[in-house]
Amino acid sequence: MLKKVVVREFIEEIYHIERWGDGHFGVNEEGNLCIRPNKENQKGTLDIQKVVDEIMDQGIELPVVIRFHDILRSQVVELNETFGRIISEANYRGRYFGVYPIKVNQMREVVEEILDAGRKYNFGLEAGSKPELLSVLALNDNPGSLTVLNGYKDREFLKLALLGRKLGKNTIVVIEKYSELINLLDLSKEMDIRPVIGLRAKLSAQGSGKWSHSAGENAKFGLTISEILNAFNYLRDNGYMDCLKLLHYHVGSQVTNIQTIKEVVAEGARIYAELKKLGAPIEYMDVGGGLGVDYDGSQSTHDSSRNYSWEIYVNDIVYGIKEVCDLENVPHPNIVTESGRAITAHHSCIITEVVDKIDPRENQYTSQLSPDHHIMVQNIRNILKDINEGDNHESFNDALSIKNASENAFKLGVLSLEEKAIIESAFWSICDALKPKIKDMDFVPEDLETYFSKLSSQYLCNLSIFQSLPDLWAIDQLLPIMPISRLGEIPTEHCTLVDITCDSDGKIDRFINGGEASETLLLHPLIKGIPYYLGFFLTGAYQDVMGDMHNLFGRVNEVHVYADEDDPIGFFIETVVKGSSNRGVLSAMQYNPDHMAYTIRKEMEKKVANKEMPPREGVALINYYENSLQGYTYLKR
Ligand code: PLP
Repeated sequence: MLKKVVVREFIEEIYHIERWGDGHFGVNEEGNLCIRPNKENQKGTLDIQKVVDEIMDQGIELPVVIRFHDILRSQVVELNETFGRIISEANYRGRYFGVYPIKVNQMREVVEEILDAGRKYNFGLEAGSKPELLSVLALNDNPGSLTVLNGYKDREFLKLALLGRKLGKNTIVVIEKYSELINLLDLSKEMDIRPVIGLRAKLSAQGSGKWSHSAGENAKFGLTISEILNAFNYLRDNGYMDCLKLLHYHVGSQVTNIQTIKEVVAEGARIYAELKKLGAPIEYMDVGGGLGVDYDGSQSTHDSSRNYSWEIYVNDIVYGIKEVCDLENVPHPNIVTESGRAITAHHSCIITEVVDKIDPRENQYTSQLSPDHHIMVQNIRNILKDINEGDNHESFNDALSIKNASENAFKLGVLSLEEKAIIESAFWSICDALKPKIKDMDFVPEDLETYFSKLSSQYLCNLSIFQSLPDLWAIDQLLPIMPISRLGEIPTEHCTLVDITCDSDGKIDRFINGGEASETLLLHPLIKGIPYYLGFFLTGAYQDVMGDMHNLFGRVNEVHVYADEDDPIGFFIETVVKGSSNRGVLSAMQYNPDHMAYTIRKEMEKKVANKEMPPREGVALINYYENSLQGYTYLKR
């Protein structure tokens, strides 16, 4: 029992599940990672290993994205309930009208689920491009919710927004650039429909975290205070003042520091209050996105974390706006947020298998020592021979200096290829022999400790980092990564991870560590014949759509899972979205797979006709080529 508790604590210490999991993840009695779709209901947990078993039983190949739709629903409900509760506690006189910015994850099922879970709260959508606008117009059928339109807009975009108004939808065009206002009023006269208008303010307050440049004077979007006043006058002079309903700002995604939220709320609320006093009929204050996710579980201002909870975030918005409005004696506006990351990050993960281990210490070269071998070879062999008698620190330093010197000696032609291989192999044998001895030392010298803590293996994972974890590669985002089973067993291997792309950048060597990132991740030793699955978590925001086609791996298989207490295994897979086939990715690059197959067939027929190949073999190889075109792009088991 005590051992179980110790292992559990150790597992938490290295993977920080409770911290980044935010109540949705835990480890069950079987030592498997599990999902709590509903934080309050401990009974309804789903064992991720069992979900993977079911996926495999259905013949779906890894890697796979698993979407837990219950988590998505639960996040939407929690955000709305938190606003509702704090608005009521604060005697705030406006209401909350959240919108989900679909750019964070445009997958139709994701957007539909969010809309459905948020229907009773009048939770709406936000779009920032024409395809997004076309989709939100079709999807958002709740006239009580908002459809907020951000981003740069041409006349076609504006016309589509007004088409939404014709259908009775609450489409709010947020003016990002002054010229959009002029086009909008022109079109509204032409189409004979009144627009609903928002103005996006460029705040002077700077954001915090990686996207801090989204705010401040040099921000890409928004109107300066002068432009806001000009817009106000233009609307009044053209008889459109009644259409100005919303004031918006967005201070950047993943705001790490709560002080930033407080500052921008104060500045935004002041602009609102001043406009209100000038007579603007604004009803909504839209504080944008930015609600952060604690990816590394450090609850700090690190780029992959945040130093506040949802409760504190909502409190600071509600009370911050209220304070300014009460002071200025203006009505409390309805509050709009555009949180995307915080709603979607937890609901999906990528599961794949570790297919191999790359370790320079494996497959060592063995040979008899010969008197012809260079003295360096003799010396390092002697260190290895006497390893149990010598001083650990001294043996290590001597061996290291021979290994370092051997590199130059080889380049200069002093050592042969074989001598270099023997030195390398002897060095790794010395390290292997020293490792357990160092563990038992009362005091470990710093250089030894550093060297041995970095002695890691590379676990080869069947996925493309460029496709599935783009932020991890492009902007050094940290994500929780851990095995989904064997969590009742202490992991002992220090590892880095590499993917299957032909790119040396396709590696992961920064891992969450409850604070500063660590260079290796502790994992279990691989056991021959038993699959070892890794999960890459909190990938529900931005990762799906930003992934690229490097090496033509393409999209991964995807399953949508729902908890069901009445189901014999507690869940069911509702949808399977097939990932890319070889044929699919080739077609996307302008190849014609049918023509390619035809070319191969012709070449093979020629070989058969020339009697260079038996017809039976020719047919089998053509079939193999054609079947491969239909297959999944990732490694097969
Ligand atoms: N609203 C706007 C205008 C944005 O640009 C973004 C993203 O940066 C968001 C909302 C979503 O932000 P987040 O995902 O951090 O909530």
